[in-house]
Amino acid sequence: MTTITLTFDNGPDPDVTPLVLATLRRHGILSTFFVLGDKLRDRRALAERADAEGHWIGNHTYNHLVPLGLAAEPGAAASEIARTQELIGNLAHPRRFFRPFGNGGVIDRSLLNEEAVEHLTRGGYTCVLWNVTPRDWALPNGWVERALEMCFAKPEALVVLHDLPTGAMSGLDRFIGAARDRGATFVQDFPASCIPIERGRLQAPIDLYMTRASG
Ligand SMILES: [Zn+2]
Repeated sequence: MTTITLTFDNGPDPDVTPLVLATLRRHGILSTFFVLGDKLRDRRALAERADAEGHWIGNHTYNHLVPLGLAAEPGAAASEIARTQELIGNLAHPRRFFRPFGNGGVIDRSLLNEEAVEHLTRGGYTCVLWNVTPRDWALPNGWVERALEMCFAKPEALVVLHDLPTGAMSGLDRFIGAARDRGATFVQDFPASCIPIERGRLQAPIDLYMTRASG
């Protein structure tokens, strides 16, 4: 029996986020939107709507330019998180969800640096990773088959998709239908194995996800 958790990163987007919300609502599925502060500034109504419909809102950095583990300038990583959290404001879940990003969706030590980890633990954040990246941004037509294959290879799948204007989210309806046909259950919460920090407390060796300053 496979459970699937859906998450949508890098929005909100004025065209794609409403499409995703409508698709999820039709299927009765709740998810999490990991938003960028830079986009949230002018598009907060979309996040408010997602929140009102029962979805969770998480922090995915302010401008998503450099993975935080590669952010060399002191203060940069903390600022990427803090500015976005301020914009999320009262839409934040009590667990204060934060998702770092890696180049090409790869999980490695470039996700976080020491400053980011300190900021997250002090701030009581919950760090949410993932275990299925079907590369919807690169395969707007092919991601559905790939995602199904990856999800059914594990008992608890946490899927990263993107509410970005790539055309990929027109396949969301088909993905959900096919996954349910094959017996999957959709859940909103995240598998514990994808949570290295829960409400500021380390749950797993964080060194796997963190660059340490040399010297
Ligand atoms: Zn991202």
